[in-house]
Amino acid sequence: MNIDRYRVKPNSKVKLADWDPGDDSQFDGDKKDAPKALEKLTDRLEELQELLYAESKHKLLIVLQAMDTGGKDGVIRHVFDGVNPQGVKVAAFKAPTPIELSHDYLWRIHQHTPARGEIVIFNRSHYEDVLVVRVHNLVPEDVWRKRYDQINAFEEMLAEEGVTILKFYLHISKDEQKERLQERLDDPAKHWKFSSGDLAERKRWPDYMAAYEEMLERTSTKHAPWFVVPANRKWYRNLVISHTVIGALEELKMQFPAAEPGLDKIVIE
Ligand code: ATP
Ligand code: MG
Repeated sequence: MNIDRYRVKPNSKVKLADWDPGDDSQFDGDKKDAPKALEKLTDRLEELQELLYAESKHKLLIVLQAMDTGGKDGVIRHVFDGVNPQGVKVAAFKAPTPIELSHDYLWRIHQHTPARGEIVIFNRSHYEDVLVVRVHNLVPEDVWRKRYDQINAFEEMLAEEGVTILKFYLHISKDEQKERLQERLDDPAKHWKFSSGDLAERKRWPDYMAAYEEMLERTSTKHAPWFVVPANRKWYRNLVISHTVIGALEELKMQFPAAEPGLDKIVIE
C-alpha cells in the first residue's frame, strides 16, 4: 500500500474536491479479502503496541477529525481492536465546558497528550478550534487565524519531546453522509447516534470543506502530517489508517528492555 499519496505535503494547496472519498486504489486484493488483511494488521499493531508499552520510551498521538458520520468511532473500534487498553487511551473532545472555555483552547488538550509508552487517540481535537469555531464564528477571525501557527508550534514542541503525531482527516462525500444519517434514522439501534444538530452542520458543508482545506494546508507539517483518508468505504479507511500507524511505529525501531542479568540461572522452586 502506498499511503504516501494520502499525506498532505507541507505548504501544499489542498482542494478536497480533487481527493476521491471512494478511492480504494492502494489495496491489491478484493474487497472480500479486506477483513483478513485488517486482521493481520491488527495483530501486528497489537505486537507493536506491546513493545511501545514495554519500552516506555516513545509516545504516539493519533488525531481523528471528520464530518459527522465520517467514521471516527469505527476507526477506534476496528483499527485498535485487540490492543491492550492499559496502554491506549481515547480522549473525546466535545463542546467545551465553561471551565474549559475560561482557559486557552489548548489547555484541555494538553492534559491528554500521551505519556511515555502510551498511544492516545483524539476523537476530535484542538482542530475543532479552527473548524466548528470558524464556521460558527465562535471567536473573531483574527483570533482563530492565529491558531494555525499556535497549533504548529504546540505540535512541534510535542514532537521535540518525543511524541510521534499522526493526523487523519476521514474524507467522506456529502452523499455518503446522507446515507449514513438515513441509516441512523432507519435503525432503532442507531437512534442514539442520531442528532438533529448534525443536520444543521450538514447544511454548512461547503463552509466546513473550506475550513478543512485551510487546516490541511496550514498544519500538515513534517513532524505532524495530515493524511486525507478516503473514507466512503469503511474497510478501506481502516486499512489505510492501520497501515499508516504500523509504519510509524516500525520506524521507531523499538526494542524490549534488556532483561535482568542472570535470568538463565534462575530456578523457581
Ligand atoms: P461525535 O459527533 O464526535 O461522533 P458525539 O455525537 O458523541 O460525538 P457531540 O455531543 O456531537 O458528540 O460532541 C461533539 C460536538 O462538539 C461537535 O459538534 C463538535 O463540533 C463540538 N466541539 C468540539 N470541540 C469544540 C470546540 N472547541 N468548540 C465548539 N464546539 C466543539
Ligand atoms: Mg455528534
